Amino acid sequence: MFLKGKSAIVTGSTSGIGLAIARALAAEGASVTINGFGEAAAIEAVRAELETLAGAPARYDGANLMDVAAIERMARDCHEATGGPDIIVNNAGMQHVSPIEEFPVDQYDRIVALNMSAAFHLTRMVVPMMKARKWGRILSTASAHSLVASPNKSAYVMTKHAIAGLTKTIALELATTGITVNCISPGYVWTTLVENQIPDTMKARGLTRDQVINDVLLAAQPTKKFVTPQEVAAMALFLCRDEAGSITGANMSVDGGWTAQ
Ligand code: NAD
Repeated sequence: MFLKGKSAIVTGSTSGIGLAIARALAAEGASVTINGFGEAAAIEAVRAELETLAGAPARYDGANLMDVAAIERMARDCHEATGGPDIIVNNAGMQHVSPIEEFPVDQYDRIVALNMSAAFHLTRMVVPMMKARKWGRILSTASAHSLVASPNKSAYVMTKHAIAGLTKTIALELATTGITVNCISPGYVWTTLVENQIPDTMKARGLTRDQVINDVLLAAQPTKKFVTPQEVAAMALFLCRDEAGSITGANMSVDGGWTAQ
């Protein structure tokens, strides 16, 4: 349990990739603060489950990451409660698909606030805390869309490229401090969110389930397999190891070959 005694904040960890990362960190002994929205009982069940994995206390913070003051409060509360964080994972994110000339301005603003600015603000808050402990891991869930583009996803692609830029910049600023800064770029990840899209797409396009998966969802992914949240979490966990101490400023693809094309 190489993360015993460490404290972590994983944003957007009430479901999907963030939840898998929270579980992986907790299983190695980290005291994890989960964050995100959802039904109170379901969130409490996740928090309690994390505590069973290796016995470290787990916290929930419902900060809305579109609110800068809430991000600042979340960082301070975690510091007070745990002395950390030693690890943050800027993971929460959202998508909206639309041609730019029709892109709703309020959706653009929300995507920029959540996918991009929240990572800046949480990072800015925790760097002094990590510097004081001379060790830290700053991770962000970017996307294959931090490296390549797809049409009709201007705000998403823009903010994910920004995460790669933030990662490189902060890695250079912190290079001699014991703090590494990296992002992980998944391809299409299997989540219930994706599963739920399949029946509608089958109906709308008159396709079979296999056609939707292979020709629509996995069109760009050469392995023709979804990445799993656990595969992304395994990368996050590796980047937290001391053996990963020379990996900083990197953008780690976990994308089934998507961006090799
Ligand atoms: P998800 O929808 O399952 O999880 C999103 C999480 O963010 C949830 O916990 C949700 O409650 C939380 N959240 C949403 N708005 C929030 C807010 N304002 N404040 C705090 N929390 C908020 O999505 P996911 O697929 O697990 O995505 C996680 C990250 O991975 C995102 O950054 C996404 O862009 C990225 N990603 C996903 C895929 C994919 O195919 N699923 C691929 C590449 C990158």
